Amino acid sequence: MNKFKITPRLSSILILALSAFIITQFTGCESMGKNKALIITGQNNHNWQKSSLLLQDILDVSGIFATEVLISPAEGEDMAPFKPNFKKYDVIVLDYNGDPWPDQVNQDFMDYVNGGGGVVVYHAADNAFPEWIEYNEMIGLGGWGNRDESSGPYIYWEEDVIVENTMPGRGGDHGEQHAFKVINRDTDHPITKGLPQKWMHAQDELYGLMRGPGKNMTVLSTAYSDTTTGGSGRNEPVLFTIAYGEGRIFHTVLGHAGSEEKTPAMKCAGFITTLQRGTEWAATGNVTLAIPENLPNSASVVEWPELRPLTLDELMTKASRYKVGQSRKHLADLTERIIHANGSEESFKNFEAKMIELLNSDATPDSKNYIMKELSWMGTDECFPALEELSKNGDTADMAKFALQRLQ
Ligand code: ZN
Repeated sequence: MNKFKITPRLSSILILALSAFIITQFTGCESMGKNKALIITGQNNHNWQKSSLLLQDILDVSGIFATEVLISPAEGEDMAPFKPNFKKYDVIVLDYNGDPWPDQVNQDFMDYVNGGGGVVVYHAADNAFPEWIEYNEMIGLGGWGNRDESSGPYIYWEEDVIVENTMPGRGGDHGEQHAFKVINRDTDHPITKGLPQKWMHAQDELYGLMRGPGKNMTVLSTAYSDTTTGGSGRNEPVLFTIAYGEGRIFHTVLGHAGSEEKTPAMKCAGFITTLQRGTEWAATGNVTLAIPENLPNSASVVEWPELRPLTLDELMTKASRYKVGQSRKHLADLTERIIHANGSEESFKNFEAKMIELLNSDATPDSKNYIMKELSWMGTDECFPALEELSKNGDTADMAKFALQRLQ
């Protein structure tokens, strides 16, 4: 029996073993027209069991990928059975940091990329294969694995330009995990276009002192690696692309998944969004994914526990629990969505119906007061009965009367 396995979406341990099911994955209707992605994992100094499934879910939840996971033989085991069929896929996502691949696999991978294949280099995949010259050209920058000045210059951002610094020293470092601000330096690239230019990334390792050939590399985003958290004191590249042969490579150093129970770095809305867009770009050279709701800004982190923005119903449920003194995040998100709906009558009606539902529910008085304030400028006759009812209740009477007055 092979030591490595390919697993389809929604895999469980059971499905892992059903290779017949796996082989039929891409012939079913569900994958029709989708970009075929293969995540390669199985050896990593990280929690690859967790990260690979999260990566698969992040890609598949976007609706434009059919993603499989290929698990390599374990560290130290015979790699001979490891023979990915790269050409079957539009994009290869590397979550692998382990033993060298067989020579033929390296050759197949180089042929695949040279021939126009897409690659995503995720987090510690840039620690892999320090001796493989072509791989290091593909990833642009790498770290650890005894990398040093012989691997290439340090590359970072200083005073609005990219600096290549050939000083001697080790490659790869990070300080304590923390939330940090990412700045998109290239806002015209399909991956970053339309996204907030500055956004807070959830707690993560901030890779720094990366070095490598850096050929044909476009830095999309940097983050300042503060010395107070043990960082380099440089604006380090965190998202970048590399052109190699006919192929496209998207490299994200973000997304640490360790032994901790939580993986905030992978639940970060900014990580998820850039990974989805970067993977689509690597696969096709284009990005068709819409800019999602509820992205982080330069002040606050946004995590998506479900790997996607909340639906309106989910958001209303969260908003309905609001009490004065707690975070107003969900309320502010709701207001933002109403504003973004561009004032079309139909979308206003939809929002109003949900808001009336909340007013008639056992939601907190504080959440009802907030909702009534919003209705006071956008409500119609439809909300009058609910407002009249709440005008009889001490906790909500003032706001209900105010809203009624404004609307009548
Ligand atoms: Zn890490």
